[in-house]
Amino acid sequence: MNQEKIGRFIAELRKEKNMTQQELADKLNITDRAISHWENGRSMPDAGVILELCKILNININELLSAKKIKEEKYNERAEESLLEMRREIETQNKKILTLNKIIINLAIIIFVVIGLAATFIEMSMLIRNIIVAVDLVMLILVGFFTLNILQKTGYYECQECKHQYIPRYTQMFFSMSGITNTNWRMKCPKCKKKCWHKKVLTKSE
Ligand SMILES: [Zn+2]
Repeated sequence: MNQEKIGRFIAELRKEKNMTQQELADKLNITDRAISHWENGRSMPDAGVILELCKILNININELLSAKKIKEEKYNERAEESLLEMRREIETQNKKILTLNKIIINLAIIIFVVIGLAATFIEMSMLIRNIIVAVDLVMLILVGFFTLNILQKTGYYECQECKHQYIPRYTQMFFSMSGITNTNWRMKCPKCKKKCWHKKVLTKSE
């Protein structure tokens, strides 16, 4: 998938429709900077807006991903190719996000401990010590929320009882217990209704 080619294709279709970047952005409820990033090939429209974008530009998703209008007979063949390719890219992206998140958690824990030790052993007034400890705790809690958000949004969870794969709600995960590595969560399965361990999977098997 060629991001730059897709970007040029989006720009071309937008201009054909006599739309400015701002006008297109307004229709999609995003910033014009995002549009400019796509058109320069610096990023791809994400799953949340891609269908709406295709509708506005009057193309289908496979035409967008292959950066050209496709004739009817070749359509099915290309459709499968493009969707597979897109799925692979989303998986790779998710893997990167999860790795980055692990690094952030580890860093946050190290910083938390270092600041905690500093507040304990360095001489300072009680007030300043309390402020530092509070800020330290808030930082750790924020990283926790951020991590949960990422875990919920990347890939799927698989019920170990019935193998059902789904995306759990944020609140469901918030009130559930996770294993030590964050890859396993003890949740209630929406299909078999059993409370059991759910494993993170990046690829949904049909
Ligand atoms: Zn289940």
